[in-house]
Amino acid sequence: MYGLMMDYPLLTPSLLRFAAQHHGDTEIVSRTVEGPVHRYTYRDAYARTQKLANALLRLGVSQGDRVATLAWNGYRHVELYYAVGGVGGVCHTINPRLFHEQIEYIVNHAADRFIFVDLSFVKLLESLQTRLTSVQGYVIMTDQTHMPQTALPNAICYEALIADEAQLFDWPQLDENTAAALCYTSGTTGNPKGTLYSHRAIVLHAFGLCAADSAMALSSHEIVLPAVSMFHVHAWGIPYAAAMCGAKLVLPGPNLDGQNLYELIESERVTVTAGVPTVWLGLLAHVGKTGKKFNYLRCINIGGAAAPLSMIKTLEEQYNVMVVHAWGMTEITPVGTTGRLLPKIAELPREQRYQFKMKQGRAVYGVDLKIVDDAGTALPHDGASVGHLLVRGPWVASAYYEDAEASAAAFDEDGWFRTGDVASIDADGHVQLVDRSKDLIKSGGEWISSIDLENTVMTHPRVTEAAAIAVPHEKWGERPLLVVVTREPAAVSAEEIRSFLKPRVAGWSIPDEIVFVEELPHTATGKVNKRALREIYAKRSSLTKA
Ligand code: AMP
Repeated sequence: MYGLMMDYPLLTPSLLRFAAQHHGDTEIVSRTVEGPVHRYTYRDAYARTQKLANALLRLGVSQGDRVATLAWNGYRHVELYYAVGGVGGVCHTINPRLFHEQIEYIVNHAADRFIFVDLSFVKLLESLQTRLTSVQGYVIMTDQTHMPQTALPNAICYEALIADEAQLFDWPQLDENTAAALCYTSGTTGNPKGTLYSHRAIVLHAFGLCAADSAMALSSHEIVLPAVSMFHVHAWGIPYAAAMCGAKLVLPGPNLDGQNLYELIESERVTVTAGVPTVWLGLLAHVGKTGKKFNYLRCINIGGAAAPLSMIKTLEEQYNVMVVHAWGMTEITPVGTTGRLLPKIAELPREQRYQFKMKQGRAVYGVDLKIVDDAGTALPHDGASVGHLLVRGPWVASAYYEDAEASAAAFDEDGWFRTGDVASIDADGHVQLVDRSKDLIKSGGEWISSIDLENTVMTHPRVTEAAAIAVPHEKWGERPLLVVVTREPAAVSAEEIRSFLKPRVAGWSIPDEIVFVEELPHTATGKVNKRALREIYAKRSSLTKA
């Protein structure tokens, strides 16, 4: 027997319409590529999004068409999110930090018909455009005054495109499982793989971000700044969730350096933000150097890579900013687990609480997790057993876009997604990520968690960032090599680091080789690029005593 409830589809434009109707005066503030700070309201954003939707139909965008963006976090990008998906198209957000060959690959693989591009990336596209076989036209996301001379064929100015369109648009009642957005993983191995998000998945995920116990607990009382790019998994879904609950949205544009972020956080009275650890290293360096404090910021969501204990402690103890450590993936829209403390853990003494804060949190409702051994047998959630982390749920991908081979490898016969992460899960559901399976180091039959080693060395007061990779070893198979960035040059010696690690990690984890560098390479999404480090260091066999 079916329930007698309306079959009312969950479609993304309904989020912005709701914000316009119920939080019409709340602002979206953007630092623009052109220079000035732009501010308007959800009411304005919805009106312009409807104009854009009309313009897209005039351009000939039809259902299922891919329309790409190459843009920073800004208000026009928000309009594109809603308008492209809303007319039945697919908003394909391209990460401009990818190698040019990868951008070429994903535009052609997605068969994008149009590309909307920020001024910053016009040159990049000009150099690629003869190889982008499916693209019929380019829209430059600026006004007439800033419109550049460009070699891009059929280039149109965004503001001119929407200027004469009607402010009303009759959104089609799509099936909620219709694709709304597409994002490719940054692809550390092989070609990038596309995750094709449905309207339903995006809306349900937004509910998750607004739930009081989950990642961001967004509400109309919060002012949220995504310090994670809108070209990487929808800035973790924040532009959708902020509209769902009417949170003021602050979009930082191109500059995520410490000073720019700090100024925006203070001037717009930001209360919640989210991003990868590297961004917070920059922010902490800025406030450390200038002696500034945060007057409004209460919560930083850290994800994308493990949040080091030193960072969690500094933010909470010196700056009174709560850290919520979260785990997710492009394929999970992206939030899977979040680290808001259970009441019984919040009552624990501080040092014990930190042990939980360092974990990646607990599943958000809707996300099912399990760990399995190499044979695929489920392992107990006892906090000790370590296995491959598998996930399923309404906002988890069921396949990669047009990539049967990658899909076959990533999903098991019961439809669970193999995350490629290795983790333990305790009886309360706390997930502790041990490593990416390919980053684990196996030394003399013992596993070494690179995350664990990095976290521990980063608690050294003179170390700012560190990465551990495996290097081949004749006797032990592999040994860890530690690459370290210090506060000042030569601030600490390899011997001091080894002595520091000795009481803190298992003997076999202590690296024989420690290399000091000025900065670590980062990927297109701001994580430490271990592949690049392996290319530099892993070939040298570590023959020192172990
Ligand atoms: P991406 O799809 O580029 O967002 O990368 C997802 C991967 O980032 C995950 O599979 C993890 O390996 C890693 N990751 C995400 N969040 C965390 C976290 N809190 N701690 C450690 N690794 C993380």
